Amino acid sequence: MNAKTLLSLAKKHGTPLFVVDHDELRKNYRLFRKHFPRVQIYYAVKVNSDPAIVKTFYELGGSFDVASMQEFHTVYENIKGLPAKARQDFIWDKVIYANPIKPVETLHELDRYKPLVTYDNHEEVKKIAKHAPHAGLALRLRVPNTGSMVELSSKFGALPGEAVDLITFAHEQGLVVEGLSFHVGSQCTNPQNFIQAIHLSAGVFAEAKSRGFNLKLLDIGGGFPAAYDATVPKFSALAKKINHELDRLFPPEIEILAEPGRFLVASAGNAVSKIIGKAIRNEKMSYYVDDGVYHTYSGVIFDHCTYHLQSFKKGPTQICAVFGPTCDALDTISLAEQLPELEIGEYLYSENIGAYSAASSTHFNGFPPAKVVHVNE
Ligand SMILES: *Cc1c(COP(=O)(O)O)cnc(C)c1O
Repeated sequence: MNAKTLLSLAKKHGTPLFVVDHDELRKNYRLFRKHFPRVQIYYAVKVNSDPAIVKTFYELGGSFDVASMQEFHTVYENIKGLPAKARQDFIWDKVIYANPIKPVETLHELDRYKPLVTYDNHEEVKKIAKHAPHAGLALRLRVPNTGSMVELSSKFGALPGEAVDLITFAHEQGLVVEGLSFHVGSQCTNPQNFIQAIHLSAGVFAEAKSRGFNLKLLDIGGGFPAAYDATVPKFSALAKKINHELDRLFPPEIEILAEPGRFLVASAGNAVSKIIGKAIRNEKMSYYVDDGVYHTYSGVIFDHCTYHLQSFKKGPTQICAVFGPTCDALDTISLAEQLPELEIGEYLYSENIGAYSAASSTHFNGFPPAKVVHVNE
């Protein structure tokens, strides 16, 4: 976003401030559609569950990946005014409950909406058969996450060798397995992860078919990288490779979905904080700001992400440290930022901080999360 606009918003609304640019959300959504014409977008709500963001993707025709009842209800808010039949069709076609492990209370509540849910183990099949017998199933496969910034395969996913047994077992329990899903790891800059996962999936499709199960959909998950810097491969090149394999291995009647999160929202979020203190520590200028890793910069911890801090003021720079406002030394945003000499009351900002940021803000130490402002809504 334009730095001038950010500064005037910070002056108007106060800090810490988190600014979401909906034009950028739309731009990213359309870019994904353009490069993946065959793929339906299921926005991964956990990346930023702000209802206004969900609404913008809903208006663009998006579908949703939810992983808790709270996220389900955030999506449901947009459709609750529709007639019952339209609501049911929407959920059936456009919501995937993509958490392979679901509490029985959640399954019980989900059953009446007949959603598509993921699973990856026998105990989950038994739970679903008992508490959500009207759900459709997608089997989550474990696939390589090599080189992705955030690894997502050690916790979930059936081994490809177990897949057909798990599909058979679900059918024996009276459930229908609609297809497969996987996640190559978040901020995946290694196209081979997608390629290998698509190959593994094609193998499972073929084996399932030979056992009499016709799978209908493939969910290629998230992981599409945000263009944080010049080292990130071009999205169009990645899409080309993925599409080529999808078209080669999956006939057109197989429905392909994806659950992008970071790719859609990272560049739409901006954070502005105010300098509340300064000191020389370890011979380095250290700025203390009113936002930190327990708040909008939570991605430093949870997302293994680094964010650049920029000043609105120009001038000769030096290496500085930037700390958050809480008393914990963990609350360190960066130990090496090039910044000019700044005074208390001046501001710092970060771009590309829309994903996995405000979504995991806490109230630690009595500091509330940043105020959220939406522009171009
Ligand atoms: C987190 C998550 C996503 C979103 O991943 P991104 O890397 O942000 O695109 C998609 N699907 C599932 C199942 C997830 O857990």
